[in-house]
Amino acid sequence: MSTISKILIANRGEIALRVLRACKELGIATVAVHSTADADAMHVRLADESVCIGPPPSRDSYLNIHQIVAACEITGADAVHPGYGFLSENAKFADILEAHGITFIGPTAEHIRLMGDKITAKQTAVELGIPVVPGSDGEVTPENVLETARKIGFPVLIKATAGGGGRGMKVAKTEGELEEAFNTARTEAAAAFGNPAVYMEKYLGKPRHIEVQVVGDGEGNAIHLGERDCSLQRRHQKVWEEANSPALNVEQRMKIGKICADAMKKMKYRGAGTIEFLYENGEFYFIEMNTRLQVEHPITEAITGIDLVHEQIRVASGAGLSVTQDEITFSGHAIECRINAEDPRTFVPSPGTITHFHAPGGLGVRVDSGAYAGYKIPPYYDSLIGKLIVHGRTRVECMMRLRRVLDEFVVDGIKTTLPLFQDLVANQDIANGDYDIHWLEDYLARTSA
Ligand code: ADP
Repeated sequence: MSTISKILIANRGEIALRVLRACKELGIATVAVHSTADADAMHVRLADESVCIGPPPSRDSYLNIHQIVAACEITGADAVHPGYGFLSENAKFADILEAHGITFIGPTAEHIRLMGDKITAKQTAVELGIPVVPGSDGEVTPENVLETARKIGFPVLIKATAGGGGRGMKVAKTEGELEEAFNTARTEAAAAFGNPAVYMEKYLGKPRHIEVQVVGDGEGNAIHLGERDCSLQRRHQKVWEEANSPALNVEQRMKIGKICADAMKKMKYRGAGTIEFLYENGEFYFIEMNTRLQVEHPITEAITGIDLVHEQIRVASGAGLSVTQDEITFSGHAIECRINAEDPRTFVPSPGTITHFHAPGGLGVRVDSGAYAGYKIPPYYDSLIGKLIVHGRTRVECMMRLRRVLDEFVVDGIKTTLPLFQDLVANQDIANGDYDIHWLEDYLARTSA
């Protein structure tokens, strides 16, 4: 067992702060890294040490493996937490750290690679007993595209093997649309990922997005921490997440959870991971696995009381999981709202200086944010400035609390998505938990002037 005494946090913003808090609780020293644009950021101020790793563009700083490894060597950090995004699912980064004797707080490079390629991930899911969306056996080519589509049945979805962020994805509703959808998806995939390979799936009409949180110790023990419903999305970006899903009962939760935990045991998966499904008519269909901590992990923490970053650090150091499946209980309901520096209707980014900032408080309220009054949001990175997480004994109580808390939250000087959440919390479909992955875009189209 290798003990970890100093962690370099290879990220920025709220997630860097989130990881830093876990390190402090565990008595582990912290190193922040930052670009020149983030010199005044909260994660830099609160860390024990900090290293500037380059100019503002991510590729020169937060994605610069060479600089990050050098920062580890200068500071004597013995482990790296990658957060989410940036290098968190970069197998080469995990390999390089290992070669330098630095612990990567995450899965093995081999597992990152396995799940990073969507065709391989899907084949692996099938082997592990996870239900998948009906689709092509592997890559679709100009030769087999028509035959494959006929076999699956229209509508079909063409997806990039190297996909991410919803790019390289095209629907063909009929045979007449197939050729164009196939060619466009390939062109987009080549442009976005440098790899034109695509595969095909049955296009589901009105699914929910439900994902299962897992953690494994790398030795064959693994647990699940229930699911999160992330159906409220815009352009495949999650906006509002909740745990548990309003659509599942206890039996369904424990059944899909067990399938996922068993799969992770078989794989000897190490670290935190999320298995994402589309859910329609009572059936789950695997779409992908994320081999990292997710933005929306706090809602799982709220209903289980388990600190996922503590677990990540424990398993990375070889200390194993702190809980067994039997010890995990699910208590109440939690909702997360992503507070973005964006126009609440058009979602156009709104960087600038926050002139006034007041975070709400009270029972069952958590705000993860690096923002403060006087903070200047740099235009170079994503627009997430904070996350509001509310917990209640029931979904009804959680919604009541959320309504109160949204009224208290003040962010002045820039536009934020807070007004959108005030609309959503007052909406009857949302109150009923009655929504699918298209609901939010339909709602925005319906209610925009
Ligand atoms: P990416 O990695 O690009 O985000 P995913 O496979 O995770 O791609 O899919 C992203 C989103 O696209 C899903 O959350 C869902 O909204 C939609 N989607 C993916 N596969 C299907 C499908 N077979 N049918 C309908 N919608 C789908």
